[in-house]
Amino acid sequence: MASGGANYRNGTQRNSLKGTTTATDRQLSMNSNPSKAALKNKSLSSVGASSGLRKSSPGSLGGGTAKDDAGVPGRVRVAVRLRPRNAEESVADADFADCVELQPEFKRLKLRKNNWDTDTYEFDEVLTEFASQKRVYEVVAKPVVESVLDGYNGTVMAYGQTGTGKTYTLGRLGEEDTADRGIIVRAMEDILADVSLESDSVSVSYLQLYMESLQDLLDPTNDNISIVEDPKSGDVSLPGATLVEIRDQQSFLELLQLGEAHRYAANTRLNTESSRSHALLMVHVKRSVKGRELAHSSQNGNSTNMAKSLRPTLVRKGKLVVVDLAGSERIDKSGSEGHTLEEAKSINLSLSALGKCINALAENSAHVPVRDSKLTRLLRDSFGGTARTSLVITIGPSPRHRGETTSTIMFGQRAMKVENMLKLKEEFDYKSLARKLDIQLDKLIMEHERKQKAFEEEIERITTDTQNQISEAERNYADAMEKERLKYQKDYMESIKKLEEKWMMNQHKLGERKDQMASTAEEVAELQKLLSKETSLRKAAEEEVNNLKSQLAQLKMSEASANSEILKLRKMLEDEAYRKEKLEGEISMLQTQLLQLSFEADETRRRLDRGGPGKVLGGLDSLISQVRPQVNDSVNEEKASIANLFEQVGLQKILSLLEAEDADVRIHAVKVVANLAAEESNQQKIVEAGGLTSLLLLLGSSEDEMIHRVAAGAIANLAMNETNQELILSEGGIRLLSITAANAEDPQTLRMVAGAIANLCGNDKLQNKLRDEGGIKALLGMVKCGHPDVLAQVARGIANFAKCESRASAQGSKTGRSLLIEDGALPWIVQNANNDASPIRRHIELAVCHLAQHEVNARDMINGSALWELVRISQDCSREDIRTLAHRTLTSSPTFLAELRRLRIDY
Ligand code: ADP
Ligand code: MG
Repeated sequence: MASGGANYRNGTQRNSLKGTTTATDRQLSMNSNPSKAALKNKSLSSVGASSGLRKSSPGSLGGGTAKDDAGVPGRVRVAVRLRPRNAEESVADADFADCVELQPEFKRLKLRKNNWDTDTYEFDEVLTEFASQKRVYEVVAKPVVESVLDGYNGTVMAYGQTGTGKTYTLGRLGEEDTADRGIIVRAMEDILADVSLESDSVSVSYLQLYMESLQDLLDPTNDNISIVEDPKSGDVSLPGATLVEIRDQQSFLELLQLGEAHRYAANTRLNTESSRSHALLMVHVKRSVKGRELAHSSQNGNSTNMAKSLRPTLVRKGKLVVVDLAGSERIDKSGSEGHTLEEAKSINLSLSALGKCINALAENSAHVPVRDSKLTRLLRDSFGGTARTSLVITIGPSPRHRGETTSTIMFGQRAMKVENMLKLKEEFDYKSLARKLDIQLDKLIMEHERKQKAFEEEIERITTDTQNQISEAERNYADAMEKERLKYQKDYMESIKKLEEKWMMNQHKLGERKDQMASTAEEVAELQKLLSKETSLRKAAEEEVNNLKSQLAQLKMSEASANSEILKLRKMLEDEAYRKEKLEGEISMLQTQLLQLSFEADETRRRLDRGGPGKVLGGLDSLISQVRPQVNDSVNEEKASIANLFEQVGLQKILSLLEAEDADVRIHAVKVVANLAAEESNQQKIVEAGGLTSLLLLLGSSEDEMIHRVAAGAIANLAMNETNQELILSEGGIRLLSITAANAEDPQTLRMVAGAIANLCGNDKLQNKLRDEGGIKALLGMVKCGHPDVLAQVARGIANFAKCESRASAQGSKTGRSLLIEDGALPWIVQNANNDASPIRRHIELAVCHLAQHEVNARDMINGSALWELVRISQDCSREDIRTLAHRTLTSSPTFLAELRRLRIDY
């Protein structure tokens, strides 16, 4: 039986015993192109050869691309398998013959219609009840599995009445006895043995279809999986189904067991049996084609590696679908199961739809109702599509099920007529190429980076090496230089040494000679030293002598001159002593004379004051002159002696005594000057010699009232001269006289001061300056002492001032009212206008007349009652000239006249 597979070749045309043509016959006969038919035949032959498929298949495509749409015709292969009698049948059917008779050598099946009539059917393979599982696999499934491994889709499907061995044939795991392993297990074994786990992949989905509901047996929660069809390629896929990658047989077996367990649980839950549901195992095999690619590259020869790497990998995607169909028995027959008719219809919908599609395909009908059920949708590629399909129909031997068996056989017969067009599922794997290129790119980037790094390191190494070489060369050079230098140095040192030696030798020779000379030289040096010392000493001595000589000469000279000087000085000293003696004598004589004179002058004055004959009318200006004509002969004698003295001593000398330290000398000197000043002929000399200035200074510097009095008297005498008056004013005389007056206690002092100012008041030119420097105020200030001599001088001063003013008014050089009135003199004038002392009264009467002569003063005079004094003077004055002056003045003043009229005084 093992070699029986050789008989399962192809649908080679055989004449049906019943005269029917096989599907192949029809297929071929229907083909109008004989040459194409021949090709198909050839192809079918090669496809049919299980061992030759993998070799010939690619070749049959003629090296075309994956997109070559040219297919290879492949009819659906159908084998029939007879189950052995089971225990029950052995008993129940013991007396009956089997309803079928197999003639495997002729691939025929005879179906007993009755005792005398049989129908004979031919199949691609006829498997007796003794056929081993291995043989069934090899005959039914192996060619399909190999096609799948080569990149085709493949289907292995079992069809038959429940209990005839579909599951036995497909799904036995053979855990107890490996010989029992069914198609599924063996197929996976072959697939895993053929694929490369590195470049290929195998993955599995396991599903159950029950009442048009597609359930995932690998994930029971996933119980309504949808079918997706690619409208272009017509490929069917189940994106919702669990896809488990298989890498070894054991894990696959476990997966199958898990699926079975889920199927059992699902059927329990749905209250159904596995016989009523379809089980579908889908095995996806994806393989990359390397050999072919390499062959292609070598053909082109000049293809570069880069071009090769840019070529996408060719992949082949084969899909093996193993279908364990639900029992093919009519449902109405099994009504005992309690299903309603509707349910029964639904249960069998997929199966009956499959039958219809197979019929349509078998009859080459224009319409194949693929979309009527999920099963037909799932299997559209298996029947009339691009897949290699192998169907095993299972039948039982029992004549009791002849009808079902017949129906199964007829299904198989029809299926055999279905022609598929096998297509290689080959395509370029752009995704993995992109992935690969990405990886390659990354590798290249890394490589580049590495190379870059290496390059940089190399550069660095070379740089370092070069630097090392340079520094070594430099070092070598420096070493060589150093060596050279040392060599030269050494040579030099040696030659120096030689020279030194020579020199030493010479020195030695010289030394001997020198030694002899040394003592002599030493002595010479010693002598030289002594000599130079002696010489310097001698020089020093000579210098000393010279020095002394010159000093001596100088001393002699100075001695001589000193002697003469001493003589001279002695002479001078003697002269001086003599002069001093003489002067002292003169001074004492003068002092005596002065004292005497002053005594006599005082006496004379006292006498005069006591009312002696020749009454004095003027002021001090006539003091001395008053004295003078009345002094007796002795006085005249004294005067003569003073004049004599003046002649003898000299004015300068006398004036210098004004500044003598001795107060008595000063007093005497002042008295002498005063006396001299009384003499008009002396006045100019005194002033020229600075006497007036000295007297004024004395007023300011001395505190002695006697000196004040005498100096003021002298100034009064000098103040009679107009030139001197200007000098006095210009040297601040008014101020000095005012201070003297303010400090004075003796009325005689005040009399002298007042007399001096009164003289100054008589100067037309000095009016304003005198008044500005306080002259009038000073005069008025002195009246408070009340002494008639003082008052008389004040009155004289006012009269002088008023006279000058009136003169100036008459000339028109003065326009304003009297400065006397301005300085407040009017009240005193009015008060003393009728003073008992006639000198006072006379001066004031004149002053009133002078003031009244200027109209501008009239109003003040009226207000100050001076008008009455004027009236009185004009009427009562003892001096006629004054009386006349007053009258004339009064009558010539409109103001006065108006006032008198106003007062109704008839004048
Ligand atoms: P189905 O799946 O078609 O309903 P099963 O495979 O379950 O039928 O078979 C029913 C019974 O028959 C099982 O007990 C099985 O072991 C047995 N059986 C089927 N085919 C064979 C065979 N060829 N040799 C021995 N026993 C078989
Ligand atoms: Mg079964």
